[in-house]
Amino acid sequence: MKFAWKSLCFLCVLCGASSCFSLDREAFSITNYDLILQIDPQQHRLGARGKITLRNDTAAPQKIAILQISSSLDWRAIRAGDKMLQFITQSYTSDIDHTGALSEAIVTLPREIASGGTFDIDIAYEGVVLLDATRLTRIGTPEEVAANSDWDRIDESFAALRGAGYVAWYPIATEVANLSEGDTLFAVLTRWRKRESGVRMKVSFPGPISDSNTAVLLCSGRQSQSIMHVDNPKSPATECSYDGTADPTPSFVFASYGVVSRPSITVYNLATHAVAAEAYASASEKIAPLIRDWFGPQREAAKIGDLPELAAAPFESGAFLFTPLTDPKAAGIGLAVAHQLVHSSFRSERPWINEGLAHFAQAVYLEQQRGRPGALDYLTMHQGALKPTESSGDSVEQSRGALVSTHNEELYRSKAMCVWWMLRDLIGDAALKKAIASYKPEQDNDANYMPRVISAQTQRDLAWFFDDWLYNDHGLPDFKVDSAYAASTPTKSFMLTITIENVGTAGAEVPVEIKFATGEITKRVEVRAKSRLTFRVETPAKPEEIRVNDGSVPEIDLTNNAFKLANP
Ligand SMILES: [Zn+2]
Repeated sequence: MKFAWKSLCFLCVLCGASSCFSLDREAFSITNYDLILQIDPQQHRLGARGKITLRNDTAAPQKIAILQISSSLDWRAIRAGDKMLQFITQSYTSDIDHTGALSEAIVTLPREIASGGTFDIDIAYEGVVLLDATRLTRIGTPEEVAANSDWDRIDESFAALRGAGYVAWYPIATEVANLSEGDTLFAVLTRWRKRESGVRMKVSFPGPISDSNTAVLLCSGRQSQSIMHVDNPKSPATECSYDGTADPTPSFVFASYGVVSRPSITVYNLATHAVAAEAYASASEKIAPLIRDWFGPQREAAKIGDLPELAAAPFESGAFLFTPLTDPKAAGIGLAVAHQLVHSSFRSERPWINEGLAHFAQAVYLEQQRGRPGALDYLTMHQGALKPTESSGDSVEQSRGALVSTHNEELYRSKAMCVWWMLRDLIGDAALKKAIASYKPEQDNDANYMPRVISAQTQRDLAWFFDDWLYNDHGLPDFKVDSAYAASTPTKSFMLTITIENVGTAGAEVPVEIKFATGEITKRVEVRAKSRLTFRVETPAKPEEIRVNDGSVPEIDLTNNAFKLANP
């Protein structure tokens, strides 16, 4: 504390004015981490030391750097070479960490770092990481729900730490994130991930962490050693390398795991979930051919790590999924596996592509299992999330933005899935598969890249669709059958004239089913926003009912879509 006060005075002398404390917390990014992490499960303790590289992201020279770690950890030393650096520490309230606060070090660098310049420092910090859902309970989340969301901790039998956004187990530098203020946590995290997109992070875990011979350390990044045995005391440290682009939330888990391995997947299960692990593995082998057909060969095997609490919220980073391995009969297994197989095969930095396609694959999987109605049920379930806010028009556009650049989870998961499904209906399986195969993440430098890749595979003009669904958030369509009448023809068939109206704010191609006594016919029609379309269909028997939209197009109101025909 004496040291801290001295540093504080030193800072004041430097700045001389109150502007001293208008700190730019995001002035420096961290471009490189080289950390050694000691985990002591018995003591719930984490000790870290290593080197990080700071980069000045501002236009002006900077001498003060902010470094933040979880509030349950304490800074021990910050130095440059053999020179101790002056720093003061303080608690900084922010919901980017599960404890709702950060231990912040305000570091005075030995010299000003020019704009874009970098500087290496050595750091050391330590503390305990216990289950802590303060950030959620203080905004009123019930304790149990909060604990199932923020399940990170170091326990004797299970240690799991997810990175920034959950536990700041490595230093970060961010402005305040507040869960009670709309999307600020989201915005702060998105900014952090963007600044860190080229980061290199290497973390060594000197082993053995535990004296159990089934203890496995798993990390979401690339890993050079996975099992550490006590009977091999010379076993080298497990090393995890995280790539900020592919793995935005560096995470690791340490537990007594059994391993079920197949070519397409490796499942790490707790002792009580061995049967479920087999179910995941065999589901993966069954689904892998379908995913390969759509997304090409796997880059790596998918990985699933078990969580002890059955209600724990699943978490994914890159090809890795942490989830409680549930009842082997659960329908969710196939969905989880399909999703993760896509992530281990296909990659994009754009959430609407990366996550949208992984969810789209779930619908394709359900279609394979239960036919189109099974997939449509799934799509409809997800459309619920899009309705209440989307129908409010312009304000939505301002708050959530275009799908191509959104970081809003509902949009890049649910809405993107529906958009991919509509695109598939618009251009067909073969063309969409070709588009996916020709997508190169390293060439995706502008938001129009994927739409161009798709357009190259079809003769159809999709500009209107991209405009309504990708480049803007125009809300949703709302279809109804405006009018329909049938006339008998000389050949004893019926000519039906139908007018479909879209009173919504986005256009779509929508299926129209016409039912008659002996069967039904489906026509697909393109109805732009705020417009109507009249077309004719010949039916072999008297048409009885018309239904617009089978659920494949997200829509504001699905209750006004049926139309009963009067006797012609
Ligand atoms: Zn995903």
